Amino acid sequence: MDTEIIKINKDDIDEKLMEHAGELIAKGELVAFPTETVYGLGGDALDPEASRKIYAAKGRPSDNPLIVHISEFSDLKRIAKTIPPEAKKLSDAFWPGPLTMILEKSEAVPDATTGGMGTVAIRMPNHPVALDLIRKSGCLIAAPSANTSGRPSPTEASHVAEDLSGKIAMIVDGGPVGIGIESTIIDLTESVPMVLRPGYITPDMLSDVLGVEVVIDPGIIAADDTRKPKAPGMKYKHYAPKADMVIVDGPKEKVLQKINSLVIDNRQEGKKVAVIATEETKESYDADVVLSMGSRRDEDSIAQHLYKILRECDDLDVEKIFSESFSTPRIGQAIMNRMLKAAGHHVINLD
Ligand code: AMP
Ligand code: MG
Repeated sequence: MDTEIIKINKDDIDEKLMEHAGELIAKGELVAFPTETVYGLGGDALDPEASRKIYAAKGRPSDNPLIVHISEFSDLKRIAKTIPPEAKKLSDAFWPGPLTMILEKSEAVPDATTGGMGTVAIRMPNHPVALDLIRKSGCLIAAPSANTSGRPSPTEASHVAEDLSGKIAMIVDGGPVGIGIESTIIDLTESVPMVLRPGYITPDMLSDVLGVEVVIDPGIIAADDTRKPKAPGMKYKHYAPKADMVIVDGPKEKVLQKINSLVIDNRQEGKKVAVIATEETKESYDADVVLSMGSRRDEDSIAQHLYKILRECDDLDVEKIFSESFSTPRIGQAIMNRMLKAAGHHVINLD
């Protein structure tokens, strides 16, 4: 299949082109599109055949449910069995935005979209192109990240093209995304609201709005496989670059020294080595490739660059990656959740 790529300026949307994109979704085809978190691979959420196409294009395991994207709060009534008061409070505070809520599903949502689960994940994205596509298609749009399963999530249209060209009908190129990591997922189907995936919206922000303490699924903070995460997708080895990756954590000077000595050892073994550093430290390393995640003074920029840099490591064919740790104050938990997966939880702690 030929994949059509259209460029859309999010501040001046081309109505004709977007109508065409919407028609493709309505016809059961797949269209990748930008959201504020990462690029999504969209299909009609209520058409089981479209959902099956999404799993096939991504090579995604069929037990890993899709997030349904909506453009109006009233869309919830079509896909959720009941709407708890917490959902209203959270949507007032954070929608459109990087928050996904898990609710009991209605009959309208096919099992193919929820991986056979009785619940459904729902989000209203905060991106004019995404909202326009949902409205123009007349559908609710199931959209996982638009990458091949197991590869880093796409934060630019070129990443989508790398993974999915020839497999989907269209890519809407709306430029690089703003946030760079996937939405926070909160489960509202149990007695206590629980974060199943950390993201830009933190547990503290959620607790403030709900007036109760929001807990984090213990399965995602465990450093091993002894506890199973509640979101099926969190158990997979996501985001992994091809090279073996090690995170070095501790005081700055010790980290610099340790990484530089590890680089020397590995290069002596003939390996091509990359270091993932920051604007503040990039000049202090001597490796085949030194990549900067951004400034520690701007943690949003670190989230924005994370996946692009993991993809760059693949493009540069490095064999070993040593990375600084990014337990930054606010979204550090979300960033480190992705970093630890990329590194297969391989951390050297120098404290
Ligand atoms: P992605 O679409 O690639 O951002 O991944 C969606 C994430 O949401 C995966 O980790 C899924 O396992 C999770 N998810 C989707 N639907 C549900 C659900 N009904 N219950 C729990 N987790 C879900
Ligand atoms: Mg994904």
